[in-house]
Amino acid sequence: MDIHEYQAKELLAGFGVPVPRGGLAYSPEQAAYRSQELGGEGWVVKAQIHSGARGKAGGVKLCRDQHEVWDAADALLGKRLETIQTGPRGKLIHRLYVEEATPFDREIYLGLVLDRKSERVMVVASGAGGMEIEEIAETKPDSIIRASVDPAIGMEAFQAREIAFGLGLDTAQVAQMTQILLGCYRAFTDLDATMVEINPLVVTTDGHLLALDAKMTFDDNALFRRHNVSELRDKSQEDIRERDAADRGLSYVGLDGNIGCIINGAGLAMATMDMIKHAGGEPANFLDIGGGASPERVTKAFNLVLSDDGVEAILVNIFAGINRCDWVAEGVVQAVTSTKIDVPLVVRLAGTNVEQGRKILDESGLDIITADTLADAADKAVAAWKEAKGKG
Ligand code: GDP
Ligand code: MN
Repeated sequence: MDIHEYQAKELLAGFGVPVPRGGLAYSPEQAAYRSQELGGEGWVVKAQIHSGARGKAGGVKLCRDQHEVWDAADALLGKRLETIQTGPRGKLIHRLYVEEATPFDREIYLGLVLDRKSERVMVVASGAGGMEIEEIAETKPDSIIRASVDPAIGMEAFQAREIAFGLGLDTAQVAQMTQILLGCYRAFTDLDATMVEINPLVVTTDGHLLALDAKMTFDDNALFRRHNVSELRDKSQEDIRERDAADRGLSYVGLDGNIGCIINGAGLAMATMDMIKHAGGEPANFLDIGGGASPERVTKAFNLVLSDDGVEAILVNIFAGINRCDWVAEGVVQAVTSTKIDVPLVVRLAGTNVEQGRKILDESGLDIITADTLADAADKAVAAWKEAKGKG
């Protein structure tokens, strides 16, 4: 789960990371009032969306007076901001964060990520902050410092100091950087994060370190025990298809192809997607409807897959172990009769009660293409899709 910048800053501040003063705004009036409240010479109005690279997309505006703050807020609120990370649909801006502007000399990149290979938290730092880490890796790979933390010991002060010295900071700043690194590591482990990123972490013109931006991602499987984190969820920032799926207990990932997939088991879903590609098609989604798929669940899955405009054919592939083919078949019949399905539908059933399942499909009188094997199902789905497209 992702959270907003202002939320990440609040959490990190609780672990001793210095952040600028700021406040939320939901309207231009509020934004202008916030800037007045904060005082000072200049302000930054920042779009709160679940994405980085907002600056380049026009989502971070430096303002010198309250009128500029008002105008910046007016220009941003209610718009969809498209960054290199959001995809073409962009993300809706419905809240802003107004901060006092900070003059700075240097921008540092700091990231803590879970390195699956070493099974450790990896600290990544670079003196070339301000740009995205991918860009740093490409243009200034030598500037990147990496250090992995032994989970049994946690991050130690000497390790943090080594990173700080590597960034070429002076003695006073090294002490601040050490506190920041230890704080970020504690936040990472105490809150079950999978990523903490401060970019840029700046050296202000008066020599202090300050986190101008902050990003955190959390382990979804640990949210049940992190109430203070899970309540920060902002559903308006999630892919609508994936959000609906999560709310219905279905595991769904939206893709760009045209063959909608309804499958039980993540492994079978992956294999089916491979077979669709092998047969010359492109899957529209990954969808695992899980083990005990009741007819209601199958209907929900159909509605979900059909809510994607890109779907031009549907492939149902069920291997029933715990599941029962007759239930799935009932679900398919229920879904097809209750929802208007105007795309070809291929169903492959195997496993428990497969005979009853097939019988239900046959006797339904519905226009369903049945298949025997995985390869057969993928071939038929791609052929039906091509034929339907050819007709249209
Ligand atoms: P991102 O583009 O989504 O990563 O948003 P950031 O919060 O990192 O802002 C983008 C850029 O705006 C930063 O790299 C800074 O260069 C600049 N910026 C952000 N806040 C301030 C500020 O308070 N003062 C100044 N001078 N620049 C800022
Ligand atoms: Mn940033």
